Amino acid sequence: MAKFDRKRLKAGVKESTEYSNRTRDSKGSSSRQPIDIEALEKAGYTKFIPDGKKTNYISVIPYFPGDNDPRQGNVKEAKRQSTYFLDFWTHKITTNGDIYVCPNATFKRKCPICEYREENRGKLDKEAWSEVKPIRRALYAILDETDSSSFVKFWYTPYNMVEREIQEIVEDERTGEITYFADDEDGSTIKFKFEDKGGGNWKFSGFSFEERKFEITDEMLEFVQDNPLDKFLVPTDYDELARVFDPYGSAQIEEELEEENEEREEKKPKRQPVRKNKDVCPIEGGEFGKDFNEYDECIECDVFEKCAEKYDELIEEEKEEEEEEEEEEEEVIVEKEKPKRIPKKEKNVRSSKIKIITDEEEEEEEEEEEEEVEQQRRKPALRRRTK
Ligand SMILES: [Zn+2]
Repeated sequence: MAKFDRKRLKAGVKESTEYSNRTRDSKGSSSRQPIDIEALEKAGYTKFIPDGKKTNYISVIPYFPGDNDPRQGNVKEAKRQSTYFLDFWTHKITTNGDIYVCPNATFKRKCPICEYREENRGKLDKEAWSEVKPIRRALYAILDETDSSSFVKFWYTPYNMVEREIQEIVEDERTGEITYFADDEDGSTIKFKFEDKGGGNWKFSGFSFEERKFEITDEMLEFVQDNPLDKFLVPTDYDELARVFDPYGSAQIEEELEEENEEREEKKPKRQPVRKNKDVCPIEGGEFGKDFNEYDECIECDVFEKCAEKYDELIEEEKEEEEEEEEEEEEVIVEKEKPKRIPKKEKNVRSSKIKIITDEEEEEEEEEEEEEVEQQRRKPALRRRTK
């Protein structure tokens, strides 16, 4: 058996105790989110859950960003341009699933995880590297056209799964024409399919644009303007993130210890086991083996021979320990953690209450247009678009 590394064991115990203490309030699945979902709902937004059984039809609502917008928060309010989504980056703490806004990628501020990443550039394996890489996210204010009772919903998505897919189709490859889908008047409806394959494995597919059949009302525009999406971004405190970011997670410590000990055992010739004996130094205050030949009485001592042997053993051990320490200093310990699964989303199947309007009715509608505009402006729910 390899020598028991007490020093590393102590370090591990200390680390795991501190880790457990830091994460004692973690509830597993209901992890920390980078956006304040409760506040969004309190403000009047509803959470959009893509339908896995039917085709999804949504329209994106544009707004002028607020003071917390990553790109325009520092620009004078009057000079800000409208946008149609909140673009930000996050880090996921793999040990508990908590997600934090990355201050570096989002706001060009200091981030402990990005610092760690930079310090270990080239030293981390692919998995470890991807775990400390920030992930781009998008938050939209949308009109869910398959839910006639709804007002404005928020849609929190991984950037690559949605926005990037949309960007693939904005330009017409034949004409070079760009679809400004988020325009409040001339924008388009985004049509797509969603599949929840379980275990956090989502698939968005079949993105295309359609003529928008439902209106983004002034009320909706005003609502989003009063509640710009950046207002709901949860700020990240550098020190807090540094505390929760645990590159040497407690679970790894035991594994590492074991692995390292195994390696050592393979590399090194078998070491003489430390002899356990009950021999003691008869001199008060004297230590068996350690104080060999230190006292005048030693030469006549009954355990002189054994004490000499012990002394030699201790010297040998000390040498080996020094060598080990030198080795350890050269070693770079690379964190390895299994990514936690994103909690599975519940599916939301809603029946559409939208009335299908025939051409005849549409004509009538056009005639009544002006009256209706006034009337429907008051309605919060989805309303059929007028021409
Ligand atoms: Zn970062």
